[in-house]
Amino acid sequence: MTSPANGDALVALSDLPDLDARALETMSALEGVGLAARQELLASAERRNLAAGQSLITQGAQNEHMFLVVHGELGVHLESVDGEPVAIIGTGETVGELGVLDGSAASAHVVARTECLLLAVKEEDFWRLTNASHAFAVNLLLKLAKRLRANNAAVSSNVQKRRQYERAAMFDGLTGIHNRRWLDETLHRMVRRHAASGGLLSVALVDVDHFKHFNDRFGHAAGDHVLTAVATTLAENVRPTDLVARFGGEEFVIIFPDTSLELAERAAERVRLAVANREMTTADGTKLPAVTISIGISQLLVDETVPDFLKRADLAMYQAKQGGRNRVMLAKT
Ligand code: GH3
Ligand code: MG
Ligand code: MG
Repeated sequence: MTSPANGDALVALSDLPDLDARALETMSALEGVGLAARQELLASAERRNLAAGQSLITQGAQNEHMFLVVHGELGVHLESVDGEPVAIIGTGETVGELGVLDGSAASAHVVARTECLLLAVKEEDFWRLTNASHAFAVNLLLKLAKRLRANNAAVSSNVQKRRQYERAAMFDGLTGIHNRRWLDETLHRMVRRHAASGGLLSVALVDVDHFKHFNDRFGHAAGDHVLTAVATTLAENVRPTDLVARFGGEEFVIIFPDTSLELAERAAERVRLAVANREMTTADGTKLPAVTISIGISQLLVDETVPDFLKRADLAMYQAKQGGRNRVMLAKT
């Protein structure tokens, strides 16, 4: 009798009269493995019993056995043993061969789902078996290839998920245009680039007029509809190289790369008119009156920081409000 590290009883196979080398051939891992190799395996392997819920392999721990499942079912768990397993290992299958192959710590937890009877094959017996039996080596390769494919599928689905998260982090959930976070990053980059090249850069701060009143009158859902329509109108009425983002609430920012204040003013005026003339109908057919926007624009000064650049546009926008709204005002230089 040997005492394994985790304290489970290892019993010599001679104590297992109902298991013979012939029975082993029906197991997928030993399919095609010659009788002599199976007999040798039975002679050297040790039997291990697990109760349901009992742990076989602990993630991060060293494991020096390949286990062959004689009967029962094991679950493979990543991170935590709670919850559903990522894979199930049934009768005739093997587990633990990766650790034996490369000597690294276990990459997953393996826990018995039912009462299990296993054959524990020691490292040296595992290698003897791969040397003695071409069929065993091929079965092992096939199993690893299958696992690799499953891993690739999981990786590719993770990549897709990550793209979705990245998208969510950069785009506004309501209007579908870029969000504040994206704007901050992009504007800093643009300012650096334009400062270095000496190019002209202008920015517009756009604020919907009397929007609180609009919400009060038509409801928040109608307000949301309008914000989406305004965002679309802004994006549709600027050049493809201009960038539109939702700054927050009912405020938007347009970045005009390589554009003077005068040219940005023309673009802003075009956008203002497009919004004021846009008729809107909600999904349920309710007609909504057009809203107006007030716009403040500024052109980047030499050595100006992003907050100061935006602040001047904001002050100009405030003046547009003071001046009666639905207008474009230029920031002081
Ligand atoms: P002003 O012309 O001075 O800009 O007046 P205002 O009412 O537009 O400005 P105020 O800052 O008082 O109110 C902004 C309103 O915008 C209040 C807020 O409920 C509304 N708002 C902000 N974000 C959203 C949103 O996501 N959906 C809707 N429906 N309303 C929003
Ligand atoms: Mg506002
Ligand atoms: Mg407003």
